[in-house]
Amino acid sequence: MDAKDVSADLKEVLYTKEEIDQRVREMAAQIDRDYEGREVLLVGVLKGACMIMADLSRAMHSHLTMDWMAVSSYGSGTKSSGVVRILKDLDADLLNRHVLIAEDIIDSGLTLSWLKANLESRGPASVEICTLFRKPEAVKVDIDVKYVGMDIPNEFVVGYGLDFAEKYRNLDSVGILAPHVYE
Ligand code: 5GP
Ligand code: MG
Ligand code: MG
Repeated sequence: MDAKDVSADLKEVLYTKEEIDQRVREMAAQIDRDYEGREVLLVGVLKGACMIMADLSRAMHSHLTMDWMAVSSYGSGTKSSGVVRILKDLDADLLNRHVLIAEDIIDSGLTLSWLKANLESRGPASVEICTLFRKPEAVKVDIDVKYVGMDIPNEFVVGYGLDFAEKYRNLDSVGILAPHVYE
């Protein structure tokens, strides 16, 4: 492997491209069935959700539209605080729409529980959440997540849209960074 290859910085691969593809397809099929006859508005949270949005939407067969939001959660260090600021709001009007938030990962769940409440206040027909990854901490938060790709260990992961200092989003697998990267 080329030493400059981005995957060379991983200590361990948790999920390969093939495993992620497979799970995203299963979720897409489930969502297609659940929303039969109703048009979904997929809402992606920038930037981490770029890959799940692209893959989930293409694996779905029903008519849908897509929109994006960017939020920043204030917190000390790496933990989010639940205090969220909207950096880029949706273009779409949510009135009577079936909104499905597509997320890369839920850690504490604070960002998403704030976001769900915020979108619910805009008069949609429904708001549900689809996340590729969920960490154990999120399970403690009172937030109803309808679609979960996989529950993962409490480790900082990168790849498939997830970054470390804005890098590694382009990895097609998901894994744990080697200590030499951040030490
Ligand atoms: P929460 O509010 O659920 O604690 O944080 C959610 C956001 O934190 C995610 O959307 C993601 O951007 C970031 N995040 C949480 N866990 C990880 C992780 O393991 N790796 C990366 N790269 N980002 C994470
Ligand atoms: Mg995210
Ligand atoms: Mg990040």
